[in-house]
Amino acid sequence: MKPKAIVFGCTGQDGSYLCKSLINKNYEVIGTSRKQTPNLSRLRSLDIAQRFKVVRCNLENFEETKDTINRFKPLEIYNLSAQSSVGNSFIKPVETQKSIVNATINILEACRVIGLDSNIFHAGSSEIYGSTKTPADIDGTIDLRSPYATAKYQSYLISEMYRNIYQLNCVTGILFNHESPLRDEKFVIKKIIKTAVRIKRGSKEELTLGDITIRRDWGCAEEYIEAIQLINRSNLNRDYVICSGESHSLQSIIQKVFEELELNWIDHTKISKDLFRSKEIESSYGNANSIKKDLGWEAKTKINDLIKKLISYELDET
Ligand code: NDP
Repeated sequence: MKPKAIVFGCTGQDGSYLCKSLINKNYEVIGTSRKQTPNLSRLRSLDIAQRFKVVRCNLENFEETKDTINRFKPLEIYNLSAQSSVGNSFIKPVETQKSIVNATINILEACRVIGLDSNIFHAGSSEIYGSTKTPADIDGTIDLRSPYATAKYQSYLISEMYRNIYQLNCVTGILFNHESPLRDEKFVIKKIIKTAVRIKRGSKEELTLGDITIRRDWGCAEEYIEAIQLINRSNLNRDYVICSGESHSLQSIIQKVFEELELNWIDHTKISKDLFRSKEIESSYGNANSIKKDLGWEAKTKINDLIKKLISYELDET
């Protein structure tokens, strides 16, 4: 019999790549969405929409979560479902909190009540470290600067508590930013690339951004999906930071994107003070030594190749 995996949040960027990776590893995959009619566009673009079940599950409802897990009794559980935008979390703090914290506790509590011995992965976020002066490892200093970060920190602690108190096999991967052609346009790299390609094609619009001096650690989503699985299957039952370990300024990314399209970024970019956050994270990057040492995983795609790949997709597909 095939091993079974549930992917909560299968319609998102990471959920889509994860389902594809699991199917390729010969897993029986069950994906979930909050919606009666889920948006399958990412799954279709990866050609996997017909290759597994997508069931409705409202993770904010305990009974529904428990029934879904009990019905399939998976070997592996991946919780990727969340209101995942930091910006939106300032506008929708309650929704963000519920989608992250309530979902996490419902999954863990369901597994505890059912008595299921699944490997449970929870998607954490580097936002919990705020601005990092040195590369953050798992024990980095906590510095919460958004409702999203606060929710992710709570869910990280809840998972740790279920592991310590109830001996559940639950782990968190603290993910730094990772990109792909499937990223939503509300995220900055996708916004930059989509706008730059439209400008290249003759659009007279400007690329309007907030603080472009910020520095981040950006990686490739497809690679991070493999790290997620390694962490979930490891007998070590440990939390890890998943990152590239490199820090780049947003300005350098904009410059590279426009250069790649043979345009001068200064001619097309406008800075809007309205887009500045009151407590912006100036610099965030991670230390991937632990996951490399324990599980042999390291980010391979460097930022220039990632940008080239994303631009090439945008030019070909749109
Ligand atoms: P996406 O936003 O692409 O997907 C998340 C999915 O969660 C959505 O497709 C949606 O599916 C579901 N969801 C549940 N509740 C809500 C809600 N209230 N609002 C919006 N969507 C909701 O996220 P990613 O795939 O990029 O990220 C996967 C996980 O990793 C998330 O938990 C995210 O916070 C975390 N993460 C991601 C990073 C990144 O760089 N991508 C960095 C750090 C952490 P549906 O509508 O079908 O239910």
